[in-house]
Amino acid sequence: MPKKPTNEECCSFCGRPASAAGGLLSGVNGMICRDCADQAVKIFHEQFKNTKGRSSYDPMAPIPVPAEIKAFLDQYVIGQDAAKRVLSVAVYNHYKRLRYNAQHDRRDSDALREENAVEIEKSNIVMVGETGTGKTLLARTIARLLKVPFCIADATTLTEAGYVGDDVENVLVRLLQAADYDVEACERGIVFIDEIDKIARKSENTSITRDVSGEGVQQALLKLLEGADVNVPPEGGRKHPEQKLIKINTRNILFICGGAFDGIERAIAARLNSNVIGFKGDETRQSLDRDNMLQYVQPMDLKKFGLIPELVGRFPVLTYLEPLDRDALRRILTEPKNALVKQYVELFKMDGVTLEIEPAALDMVVDRAVEYKLGARGLRGIMEGIMTDLMFDLPQQPDGSSYTLTAEEVKKRLR
Ligand code: ADP
Repeated sequence: MPKKPTNEECCSFCGRPASAAGGLLSGVNGMICRDCADQAVKIFHEQFKNTKGRSSYDPMAPIPVPAEIKAFLDQYVIGQDAAKRVLSVAVYNHYKRLRYNAQHDRRDSDALREENAVEIEKSNIVMVGETGTGKTLLARTIARLLKVPFCIADATTLTEAGYVGDDVENVLVRLLQAADYDVEACERGIVFIDEIDKIARKSENTSITRDVSGEGVQQALLKLLEGADVNVPPEGGRKHPEQKLIKINTRNILFICGGAFDGIERAIAARLNSNVIGFKGDETRQSLDRDNMLQYVQPMDLKKFGLIPELVGRFPVLTYLEPLDRDALRRILTEPKNALVKQYVELFKMDGVTLEIEPAALDMVVDRAVEYKLGARGLRGIMEGIMTDLMFDLPQQPDGSSYTLTAEEVKKRLR
């Protein structure tokens, strides 16, 4: 401990003098330094929020029905009906399951055994779809609607415990933080893991050396999906011996994963072709929609791609996102609640300028996005390229003026 200078006031908790602690806060009978105050806040969070019965989470709150969830998604996400329906049902069931479990948790387990109570299993989801088709957007939009904690993690940053990178368990830390350290609420949250395809093993044969980014991570993830008690450090990062850990049970946490699974179409096509050889084969083959093979995706295709069978088995719900065609891209520019065009109109309005964009100008933007093959992700970049100069001069425009972005102007700027 630093040597105490004479007569200097000290922190009543750690004993450091004010000069060493960087200042003290005085109370009626003592003083506290910043470090001890920080520590105290953490302890309060853990000890008091952790107490059952004090959680802000209410399993009996009204549940949005699938049609309501889908209608909400429709306001922000264009198309993708199949994925929206599947997600709406999964989220609805997640809520129902929580309610069911909460009702049963109140009775003792012997009574339950006698009643032969059915255990409703959770339905973790995988969404397969090209990049920029709206997987993350769907997840984020669901998060807006939900009254349960929600977090997004990127599978590419995850590694097995002990390797450089983010431990898989840190996903739970993020959920705990989203729940404001309310463990009970966290244990009923939803986790979205993006780019799950990037932790596929490279070949179907198990490797004898450990594979940091692939199979090991899948194994670690499996533990979370199976429903385990996991001890996590409240601040994230590596666990170390003296650290206080918080126990989180993952039994009720819903996991939604997304991935582009580049090249999976080939596996799907190969499977379908070998299935349809023979009687009636040609007919089936001809009725396949070759432009959107992802709609035929099956769990075995994920296995073929390099997800371990145990992990695939933990994702009973599999859905797909459609590639975005010209029409969808055009709608994305103007229709969603926070569509790009609406955002620019709003930005201009703040400077007192009315912005109008010719329909033909938007068609040109869409043409360019189709060319770039980046899905809707490309739209933003293209629009920014066109609008930057305009926005640079915007504050100099007289209040109350208007500006129309013409096709001619877009053509010039795209060049
Ligand atoms: P990914 O499928 O790669 O996760 P994102 O959801 O991140 O794609 O999409 C990138 C951006 O493109 C989103 O922020 C959104 O603005 C836009 N976007 C993508 N798909 C759609 C869609 N179906 N409807 C509306 N906007 C979309």
